[in-house]
Amino acid sequence: MDTCYCGNPKLYADCCAKIHQDINKATTAEELMRSRYTAYVLAKGDYLMKSHHTTTRPTQDKKNIVRWTKSVQWIKLEVITTQKGAAKDTEGTVAFKAFYYDKQGLQMIHETSKFVKQYGHWVYLGEA
Ligand SMILES: [Zn+2]
Repeated sequence: MDTCYCGNPKLYADCCAKIHQDINKATTAEELMRSRYTAYVLAKGDYLMKSHHTTTRPTQDKKNIVRWTKSVQWIKLEVITTQKGAAKDTEGTVAFKAFYYDKQGLQMIHETSKFVKQYGHWVYLGEA
């Protein structure tokens, strides 16, 4: 299947994997957001921390986040809208829905996320 976990119509190796290897490869806020979704799917705790702004980074919760994401079954990501967040911008927002199954059944996260640049690359700041 030539679809990345994030939903882009290309292989993971040609999509989020490149960003997981080098966070500077995320040229837009949406790409960074998609790479974070894929990092949840693959339980990449280190990348979830690295792609989080240092002032809001939940370092203490890293183990719990990894444990939780391994306990659910991710289904898909839907990006709804983006505002700014282009390569030339320094901030942007991405509204999305992420679907997964847990023991209770189908769950959905609906969030508008704020992204900014820190150390020259995009990071997740928090809910907008
Ligand atoms: Zn991807």
